[in-house]
Amino acid sequence: MQFSDFGLESRLIDTVEHLGFTAPTEIQQQAIPAAMQGHDLIASSKTGSGKTLAFILPALQRLMKNRALSKRDPRVVILTPTRELAKQVFSQLRLFTSNTQFKAVLILGGENFNDQVKVLEKDPHFIVATPGRLADHLTQGHFYLNGLELLILDEADRMLDLGFAKQLSQINEAADHRKRQTLLFSATLDHAQVNDFAQELLKKPKRIAIGGAFTEHNDIHKRFYLADNLDHKEALLQHFLKAESYQQVIIFTATRSDTERLANLLIEQELSAVALSGELIQSQRNQIMEGFSKGHHKILVTTDLASRGLDLVNVSLIINFDMPKHAEEFIHRIGRTGRAGSKGDAIAFVGPKDWLSFKNVEGLLEQTISFAQVKGLTGKFKGLKPKKVSAKAAKVKDIKTDKSPTTKVKKAAKKTFHVAKDVGDMPIIKRKKALTAQQIEDNDLDEVK
Ligand code: AMP
Repeated sequence: MQFSDFGLESRLIDTVEHLGFTAPTEIQQQAIPAAMQGHDLIASSKTGSGKTLAFILPALQRLMKNRALSKRDPRVVILTPTRELAKQVFSQLRLFTSNTQFKAVLILGGENFNDQVKVLEKDPHFIVATPGRLADHLTQGHFYLNGLELLILDEADRMLDLGFAKQLSQINEAADHRKRQTLLFSATLDHAQVNDFAQELLKKPKRIAIGGAFTEHNDIHKRFYLADNLDHKEALLQHFLKAESYQQVIIFTATRSDTERLANLLIEQELSAVALSGELIQSQRNQIMEGFSKGHHKILVTTDLASRGLDLVNVSLIINFDMPKHAEEFIHRIGRTGRAGSKGDAIAFVGPKDWLSFKNVEGLLEQTISFAQVKGLTGKFKGLKPKKVSAKAAKVKDIKTDKSPTTKVKKAAKKTFHVAKDVGDMPIIKRKKALTAQQIEDNDLDEVK
């Protein structure tokens, strides 16, 4: 299949070709024709699967083909959970609108409110926004949605997890249901709140699920290493930063303070590293992300703030210095590499405090994961006994890892977890049931009221 098969305007096809895309991805193949026929959609697809174009192209086509319902109101509103993702969607959209009469604006939390009022007064056709700030402008009457033709919710699951339900409902109610088309994208469709919300927002939606939302990303080579403690993780980190070849790397840590600490540690060793955390003001965040995407830094150290949606084409290595609290985040983290068919590597360190998260990831991936080892850097920690793997056990702060495991622990570990003898990946041994889904961590809640 080719992009020209969709019956899109030739200007759109030209831009797609100019971007070097020859064939539509799976989500594009399904979502573009359905959206062009005017259907509401509820769609899930793998991270990095090309879903931005899957909604941008039908949106542009609609605007080019149909007369506006109103001269002043925005015709398309695209909402995303984070500012970084909104910027990325906006920059893809601009590639298509820059040679047309359509105006597109970006409205984000954390940026100057009055400047945004002026921008909204210019009656843009497209608004790409984070929901909190857009709802504020709506409340204050800085724009109206009576003429809205298309509402697009990107990563709706995360917007709801972040507590934006009220703002999304407000935006939905301000736009005429009968005339409007709605496209909802979510990492997973197996999410009660997304489904309830879909009932409220969508009219007879077409459901599109490309693979499982958490199906394996075959282009990403995953490796897991056991780590005794922080020092051990730092030694492993130093090893991989030297041993692996990568263009750019993202290191994920559990806490904001660790991002700074680790970045400083790497800078002291004259590595080109920068830290990104949610407590920075927006202009600093922008500067850091811009610098990193332009290749000014080789290493980005961050919390889950950068785990979703961002399209950083030169990131070929992900290091999970700490496992994420919520298993779904692991998929999003590693999805920062292996974008659109390119290969990537993902490494994860698993210490005693990571054990519960690790088991949740294992459950989510429906695999029993084996550990690889680095010669000279093997530790004593071999995992926790299954009966200790409970929320209570995970809270036990000081798990002693300085002693050799007892024979009983060794036996249990041997029986349950296959510890790899050699460096490298071990095969998947058996299938397991996913554990319970958990809420996404609210790393950037500053827009939620
Ligand atoms: P997305 O899932 O929208 O974040 O897109 C992930 C990456 O895939 C981005 O770098 C896109 O520019 C790229 N991409 C989108 N559509 C295609 C396509 N049809 N062929 C190749 N790459 C694509």
